Amino acid sequence: MTDPKDRLDALRADIERRNPGQPEFHQAVREVLDTLGPVLTARPQYAEAGLVERLLEPERQIIFRVPWTDDHGRVHVNRGYRVEFNSALGPYKGGLRFHPSVDIGVVKFLGFEQIFKNALTGLGIGGGKGGSDFDPHGKSAAEVMRFCQSFMTELARHIGEHTDIPAGDIGVGGREIGYLFGQYRRITNRWEAGVLTGKGQGWGGSVIRPEATGYGAVLFAAEMLKARGEALDGLSAVVSGSGNVALYTIEKLQQLGANPLTASDSSGYVVDDKGIDLALLKQIKEVERGRVSEYATRRGPSARFVRQGRVWEVPADVAFPSATQNELDVEDARTLIANGVKAVSEGANMPTTPEAVHLFQEAGVAFGPGKAANAGGVAVSALEMAQNASRVAWSRERVEDELAGIMRSIHAVSHETAERYGSPGDYVTGANIAGFERVADAMLAQGVI
Ligand code: GLU
Repeated sequence: MTDPKDRLDALRADIERRNPGQPEFHQAVREVLDTLGPVLTARPQYAEAGLVERLLEPERQIIFRVPWTDDHGRVHVNRGYRVEFNSALGPYKGGLRFHPSVDIGVVKFLGFEQIFKNALTGLGIGGGKGGSDFDPHGKSAAEVMRFCQSFMTELARHIGEHTDIPAGDIGVGGREIGYLFGQYRRITNRWEAGVLTGKGQGWGGSVIRPEATGYGAVLFAAEMLKARGEALDGLSAVVSGSGNVALYTIEKLQQLGANPLTASDSSGYVVDDKGIDLALLKQIKEVERGRVSEYATRRGPSARFVRQGRVWEVPADVAFPSATQNELDVEDARTLIANGVKAVSEGANMPTTPEAVHLFQEAGVAFGPGKAANAGGVAVSALEMAQNASRVAWSRERVEDELAGIMRSIHAVSHETAERYGSPGDYVTGANIAGFERVADAMLAQGVI
């Protein structure tokens, strides 16, 4: 029998050859394959069943035209995607991203990560992802609505509460989920609350869903610190981004007595020596849909805006990359390490480059990969589905308690699995193998399909 390492190398080469022009997908696959050697050695039945080969090929990939008309009557055409990657553990589940960078490779990387992340939650959800290269920036609410309606007109035939359940991601928040849900309801003539998550409260949404990803990333960091006999209380933090994940990362950090100093967007970052004034940042980002530079102008002397700068140059004890993929590279990692960072918890998906991850691990920094650290969002989505299925709404306390329990258990299983496979403290290996084992066991039981 071939050595698992050779087999994984051959698989990787094959993936790169058969999926040209998809660097993000290659990167996500490589990161997982690099950690699976020990589990394939320990359990040869996985290799015999062609599990990794099957896992790497999405069950279904849908690409469609999304035509829409702007406020001046001009017609635009975008491309829509839904990659239904793996349904061994439950219906496909994962967000929709509307951003000009979205292409099939980006959707596949996100969908692939989602399989493992969703498995780690333990909640019976498969992995999928979708989106469009539509850019919501600078569009009127009416244009966004018409785009969402056109997007859903095609997507509706592919999704369903027992089939595939989209949610938000970059560029898709409560407003977009509302337009998408309205169009789905109109097309199908069904009140099928469980077909989308991230809905508004009052029409099927769960409390704590908007907060869940950010809250979860902070809870995961707290668990990593606790495992080393340290606490988050009193620590300073750098947070990148200013979307949903970043805002609620800042909120939970403040609740736990830490001091978040920064936020960013594509134009640069703000640093506030007194700590971020969250009410002001929320007003600018959530209500006015403005830029972070506004924050510095309105906050007064404690804050300044750094154009084109990287938030990672601000010294802090813990770091939360919460913007987008590959936003923290090896240079940034060097800077953070030199400034004494203790822990990095990924709120975004794959924000840290592989070289930067290695550097953190070599330097003994606790590193929480997105699959584990940002799983709180999709976990509360699954709790939203549970509430929808039973037609009840849970209290904030109940959802928060469930979320905290899920984040603790994801930390515990990642930590324990890393130890079991001889890489103590390596949450990348632990999360990949723990997620893989759950999906692989289900696939093994369900036959070659
Ligand atoms: N887009 C989020 C993620 O990356 C949430 C997905 C969901 O709630 O389905 O996990």
